[in-house]
Amino acid sequence: MNACPDMVRCPLLQDFLSYAPEQGKETQRRYCERRYSSCARYMVLRELGPVHTPPDILPDDTARAKQILARLLEPPAPQVRV
Ligand code: SF4
Repeated sequence: MNACPDMVRCPLLQDFLSYAPEQGKETQRRYCERRYSSCARYMVLRELGPVHTPPDILPDDTARAKQILARLLEPPAPQVRV
C-alpha cells in the first residue's frame, strides 16, 4: 500500500515529528507509511475534508472518527408536524 496522500501536510504528524519525534516515527511506521486507510484521522479527512477534521484526533481513535462521521453524514431526521 502507498503512503498516506496527506503525509506531507498532516498537522498531527508534523507536530509529532517536531515535538515528540519517537511518537511521530511510530505513527509514521504504523499508519502513514502502511495502513493509512485505518487511521481515524484519515477516515474523517477523506469523508469530510480538513475543515471538519478535529486537529487533535489521533490515528487510533476510530471510535471518535465513527461518531464524527455518523453525526455529520447521517441524514437529518424527518420533521414531525403536530
Ligand atoms: S495516516 Fe493519519 S496521521 Fe498519518 S499522515 Fe495520514 S492522516 Fe496524518
